[in-house]
Amino acid sequence: MDEVTAALKRYFGFDGFLAHQEEIVREILSGDDLCVIMPTGAGKSLCYQLPLLLRPGYGIVVSPLISLMKDQVDALTERGIPAAFINSIVPFPEQRRITDSAAAGAVKLLYVAPERFQAPFFQDFLQHCPPETMVVDEAHCISQWGHDFRPSYRQLGEVADRFGIRQVCAFTATATPHVRQDICVQLHRPEMRLHVAGFRRPNLSFSVVQCSSDASKLAAVGKRLARKVPTILYASTRKAVEQLVAEFGVIGYHAGMSDEDRTAAQERFMNEPCPVLAATNAFGMGIDRPDVRQVIHYNLPGSLEAYYQEAGRAGRDGAPADCVLLFAYRDKFVQEFLIDLGNPPEEVIRALYRTLRRLGQKEQTTTLEVTAADLLPQIPEARAESQLSAAFGILEKAGLIARGSRRSGCGILRFTGDLEELRLVHQLENTQRSRFISRCIRRYGEALRQESSHTVEELADTAGLTPEQVRRVLNALNGSCLNWHVPFSGRTTELLHPETGEADLDYDALQAKRDFEMARLEDVISYASTRGCRQAELVSYFGESVKGWHCACCDNCRGQDAKRPPQGKETVIIRAILQAVDEFDGRFGATRIAKLLSGDSGADTPGRSLSRSRSFGALSALNATRISRYIRALEEAGCLDRIERGEYPCLTVTARGYEVFAGHAEPLLALPPLLEEGKLPASREPRARSRMRQETPSPRRTEKEKTPPDTSPATECNDLKSELRSLRTEVARSRGVPAFRVLSDAELTALAEKQPLTVEEAMRIKGIGPAKAATVIPLFLDRIRSWRRREFGTENF
Ligand code: ADP
Ligand code: MG
Repeated sequence: MDEVTAALKRYFGFDGFLAHQEEIVREILSGDDLCVIMPTGAGKSLCYQLPLLLRPGYGIVVSPLISLMKDQVDALTERGIPAAFINSIVPFPEQRRITDSAAAGAVKLLYVAPERFQAPFFQDFLQHCPPETMVVDEAHCISQWGHDFRPSYRQLGEVADRFGIRQVCAFTATATPHVRQDICVQLHRPEMRLHVAGFRRPNLSFSVVQCSSDASKLAAVGKRLARKVPTILYASTRKAVEQLVAEFGVIGYHAGMSDEDRTAAQERFMNEPCPVLAATNAFGMGIDRPDVRQVIHYNLPGSLEAYYQEAGRAGRDGAPADCVLLFAYRDKFVQEFLIDLGNPPEEVIRALYRTLRRLGQKEQTTTLEVTAADLLPQIPEARAESQLSAAFGILEKAGLIARGSRRSGCGILRFTGDLEELRLVHQLENTQRSRFISRCIRRYGEALRQESSHTVEELADTAGLTPEQVRRVLNALNGSCLNWHVPFSGRTTELLHPETGEADLDYDALQAKRDFEMARLEDVISYASTRGCRQAELVSYFGESVKGWHCACCDNCRGQDAKRPPQGKETVIIRAILQAVDEFDGRFGATRIAKLLSGDSGADTPGRSLSRSRSFGALSALNATRISRYIRALEEAGCLDRIERGEYPCLTVTARGYEVFAGHAEPLLALPPLLEEGKLPASREPRARSRMRQETPSPRRTEKEKTPPDTSPATECNDLKSELRSLRTEVARSRGVPAFRVLSDAELTALAEKQPLTVEEAMRIKGIGPAKAATVIPLFLDRIRSWRRREFGTENF
């Protein structure tokens, strides 16, 4: 066993490498600059951790989020690996202890946030003791074409140059060609070698569920959550997250929550056995829960990179997991609107700049304390606050303005109490207040008697407390021994070139960025509507070749032929539905249309009988349930759409629907094929209803065919029941036992009604014990699954 394999075992306790890891470890050990692009869960961390452990000295790992760092370092420390992190929540003396250890080689992996490189103390340390290697994790943050662009990542190339860091390695899970190139350029390592691999995730089953309204999305989520498994629900706005939390009582997570609440949410997600968490894309980096069984996207993601990364948090343990995208075509317009807001037009940018300049002249200053919300009423060109925020960002990037970081606005501090007395009282106490007072006095001394301005961060550094703690202490002490004037809460804006009168920017480039984002959105739409293998589509998007490979488990691979053109007289059914919807365009919902067509007077409203409508009873040979299924299939095929009107959604015919009606197009129906085509109704003869049943009758039933059909409303479960019954006959025959020995009628009915998907669920049915669970139940579960797939396009709905 060589050194590398031995170290893998010694430090991490793993017997072997995951795919590509060993190769990458050796490449890094050779000293080359390397950019590794492998998906989430591929084990990238180990690829850099191991070589850094094998080398003398220490290495720096740049990581974007505090939570991410903490998780990684906790996991490493648990394994006895000398790792530590430094970020704004680490008290100053502790930071010093850590850098001392790194200098002495007692800390081998030093995790830092990119902002750390701005701290004088840290710069000083790097000057004296630079690392051999800098690893940039989540390196896509460096690219403004990437979905998590972090401006502070941009200085990393410069940092590496300034401190003479010899090797720079970048790691990310998603990088399109654009982003890949940006990583090398921004890190000042154009020769960096690329390693793209491992995008296939055969255990993930991708599917897209067409939803026509928010109500149907919520219903889809509800059905999914009936499976009690660790689940992440991604939504694109805080509001949507909150809606999901309110609707389903799940854990919520978004950037608008306080740090403490977010940490608590994260901890619940990591520790509860079957948590369901609704989150915006603020959640996820570094979340290392391996047994997430489903990731559901409630809204359309902005790009496939974002989608694959978020969805890829499912099934990291290699066991089967589902990635579901709930897709309503109109989500596209919402995304386009967001792109519009994020890419303000030229006139908004120019108007913002002029307004800022005017304010500066009026107030005779170049440092303005205004927020986008303050300015919105003054700039009629702007559509929304967020559009102005985006314009601020553009002016900043263009170097016309500089913005203070959100919390760095200076507050005004003055001590009013007797400094000597305060010092004496507090120097021996160990509360946060005492620490704050005595350390401020030690550092600033007499100057505290005068008003002076400080950022909270600076005071936190001085007191060895977190900014949050300092805010609390200042609030508590304000008005007693000191006065504290809270800083402007927002970002200050500094006019860097007040002499420049106009924002003459490269508006073509800005337009290109907007086009780029629109094109990315089109990629997502095309993914949602592909009929080919979903995973193959994703994998090839990231530059890995597929060569005819397909996953065999996405909705398209599984149900390739579940969607089919209408057969025989189904064309009549479809035309009747389209006609009825057209007749009551936008006024009736699906249930009412179905009742109307089946000739059910329940479709009437008080004072209005529909019996004279030409659609009334036009499909009286079918019951309303079956008609509803055709309506749903037509919605999924894009022939019908829902519009919100009043309290419930109403149906309307789409352009495609009219094409179908005119016979110019054929819809593809997600319905089981009709088995008895010849018996389809052509007449309005109500007794023909029984002929519509979708089952293969057993000989006995054929004899009884004249008896009225089972008219229970649970038609859906009767379809399945007859399938299960014929399976029972088969099983009984092959085992040479009577059918009731296989399953009793009651058990069979319960299976059809409850439609369990797992053995555990099945065992909750009375009479089904371990013996049946171990022998026949799996066969029935298989049948239920395939039935669901055919019926609903996916087994879990
Ligand atoms: P990435 O950063 O690529 O998303 P991580 O580095 O977080 O992935 O690793 C994902 C998981 O794989 C972690 O739980 C890690 O412990 C595990 N892992 C990494 N390397 C190995 C290995 N050689 N054998 C077994 N498990 C591994
Ligand atoms: Mg990682």
